[in-house]
Amino acid sequence: MLPWEHFLLGLFPMIHLWQAYTPVFGMTFLLSSVLIDFDHYLLILYATKFRVWDPRKAYNYFKSRNGKLHLHIDALFIFHTIEFLVVLLLIYWFTKWTFVLAVVFGWIYHLFFDMLEVTYFKIRHNRRHKYKPLSLIWYLVK
Ligand SMILES: [Zn+2]
Repeated sequence: MLPWEHFLLGLFPMIHLWQAYTPVFGMTFLLSSVLIDFDHYLLILYATKFRVWDPRKAYNYFKSRNGKLHLHIDALFIFHTIEFLVVLLLIYWFTKWTFVLAVVFGWIYHLFFDMLEVTYFKIRHNRRHKYKPLSLIWYLVK
């Protein structure tokens, strides 16, 4: 799912959280639900051996069918892992910073739609479509 799609999907809950809690909480939720995909950029930096720094070029590289990696299939997206969620929860546990909780909500919301999209593609187009690896440990062990 593309960042602008995550942005649009996050607008409604952001408005609700803005009103129900605080504007900062709502905005943190929205930003985190979009910026979790920053790991795609990190992966492209790595995949291009740090030759593509321009975010627009990286975005096009990711979207191109000729991209050398099948990024959505075999790569590890570090911010999309359970371990990242655990780190967030630990930060919240020790600090009680409510904006970290907004990031956690953004993470859950983001992952829900990422998985829904893959499920849709599996059913509608191609059963071989794969979910992103959800665990760093599982990814390293397999
Ligand atoms: Zn994502």
